[in-house]
Amino acid sequence: MTEYRIQGATGEWEVVIGLEVHAQVTSNAKLFSGAATEFGAEPNTQVSLVDAAMPGMLPVPNRECIRQAVRTGMAIDAQINKWSRFDRKNYFYADLPQGYQISQLYHPLVGEGSLTIEADEKAGLPEAKVIGVERIHVEQDAGKLMHDQHPTMSYVDLNRSGVALMEIVSKPDMRSSDEAKAYMTKLRSIVRYLGTCDGNMDEGSMRADVNVSVRRPGEGFGTRCEIKNVNSIRFIGQAIEYEARRQIGILEDGGSIDQETRLFDPGKGETRSMRSKEDAHDYRYFPDPDLLPLEFDNEFVGKLLADLPELPDDKKIRFVKDLGLSVYDASVLVSEKAIADYYEAVAAGRDGKIAANWVINDLLGALNKDGKALEETPVSPAQLGGIIDLIKDGTISGKIATDLFE
Ligand code: ADP
Ligand code: MG
Repeated sequence: MTEYRIQGATGEWEVVIGLEVHAQVTSNAKLFSGAATEFGAEPNTQVSLVDAAMPGMLPVPNRECIRQAVRTGMAIDAQINKWSRFDRKNYFYADLPQGYQISQLYHPLVGEGSLTIEADEKAGLPEAKVIGVERIHVEQDAGKLMHDQHPTMSYVDLNRSGVALMEIVSKPDMRSSDEAKAYMTKLRSIVRYLGTCDGNMDEGSMRADVNVSVRRPGEGFGTRCEIKNVNSIRFIGQAIEYEARRQIGILEDGGSIDQETRLFDPGKGETRSMRSKEDAHDYRYFPDPDLLPLEFDNEFVGKLLADLPELPDDKKIRFVKDLGLSVYDASVLVSEKAIADYYEAVAAGRDGKIAANWVINDLLGALNKDGKALEETPVSPAQLGGIIDLIKDGTISGKIATDLFE
């Protein structure tokens, strides 16, 4: 196993990382109400009486949100708990009209699972590694406070209030910022394949609380700090690098780490203290009396399992075994569902390796150069396939094909 070390002034250190990822469940309605969830709507236009916590309103679980969380658990080979329950997490804040968040502490929907991050030399990952997932539970999102609209007042937008989130909690298994970035990338890829979350981090659909501690190699875990709501993969890497150095600096000066909640400032590339860490007992959790426990029968679980789509790891194996691709090429092609779909459309009825070369080197290369995503490609799979056919039947040379592609 690769050992990552950070060189300090007094010797070597190891960083330990665990991520708590909040992923917004893809669903037309909220977790406990029928209000819409569309991104970018006018403030407070998607708020039902339940979301605004009007007295006497009762939550009704949205079956689709529950299904999506269970499917996500299945995709990481996790234990699906056939009996789970909602709890109230009590705290007061202006973006939380209920005065509590409905979440799951004691009996989450999904238990232990894992996912594999790929080896990728270029990304600082010499070998593949399995990262444990502790649990996945579902919970309500809070509203959004806007402090920059008025000199003396803050506004609140409750459109997000009550939207279903999956909280996906990893074990403290990551040992470098590159591993954490790869974990987040893989998780995003999986939820996109499943269609359980759109994975759009810039819209806040996926964000991570990044737990970081450092230790001397071979020693037990150190005290961690939790960096809240980091909303890009690059920032996750930067926050970890900064935070590990900060903690090492303190420890090497003879100080100790206070367990606290911190914020990452992307402009400065620094983390700063937000508040001291709260414990579960600070939230006075108790079972939500308005909701019955969730109970799944074998048929419900079996049907969801049978209907899971092909996921990136399986697709990769198939590309290598059936289409003769190298492991590296297969990894590139399955990394995003959109790329895999495009590639499969080009490769259908054609030589898999030739199609892979065109998609990876020519198409992705050109898009990359222009800073464009695959969705913006001006060349359709049918057009690219057509070029490959023209070479094959001898109508044009490889050189002309390249010109034609350009
Ligand atoms: P909480 O709910 O209080 O934030 P948990 O014990 O559930 O705490 O852990 C939250 C996250 O912190 C998990 O992702 C876990 O892997 C990570 N974690 C726990 N201990 C450490 C540690 N010493 N260093 C880094 N991460 C840690
Ligand atoms: Mg936490």
